[in-house]
Amino acid sequence: MFTKVLFPIDLHEQAFSLGALRFAVEQAEKDGAGLHVLTVLPHAGKPTMLDYQHDKDMLREVERSAHERLDALVENQVPAGVRVTKIVRKGGAPPDEILRYADKNEADLIVIPSHDKSALEEFFMGSCAAKVVRRARCSVMVVRKPRKRGGVGRGACPVL
Ligand code: ADP
Repeated sequence: MFTKVLFPIDLHEQAFSLGALRFAVEQAEKDGAGLHVLTVLPHAGKPTMLDYQHDKDMLREVERSAHERLDALVENQVPAGVRVTKIVRKGGAPPDEILRYADKNEADLIVIPSHDKSALEEFFMGSCAAKVVRRARCSVMVVRKPRKRGGVGRGACPVL
């Protein structure tokens, strides 16, 4: 039985994340848990010194847009009966921010979508889900997207 379900979402990949969000919602409904929907804006750190005011305005705009998109997502995808907390984090690397939030807020389940990258893809591109699974102190449910047959992940791997 879970009390706080954390659902990290990359807002650039909303369509990909919807199946996993449904799972997180179902789990929260089943257990009467709170659902925490977190997005990280990894490049929205501190403004540079080069054009301070311009950078500051741009960062504010990126943050405003993230809040808007998160609001719309929750309104469209999460039933009214579920207690939702929406969080926008700025600046850090997504896996670090996800884990920091989970620890600080004592989440007991993280539901995270994963592309199921091949070892090669993971080596070059990294995997947020893999880092979260390795380092999380609570349960993690990885919701995978099936790998395409014959893609880089299977058989058709280029020789390096
Ligand atoms: P994978 O782990 O599938 O190889 P990704 O690194 O793209 O691929 O990330 C998988 C999941 O990690 C995303 O679906 C999302 O849950 C989480 N994630 C990645 N980037 C962010 C972000 N900027 N903010 C919140 N969560 C993120």
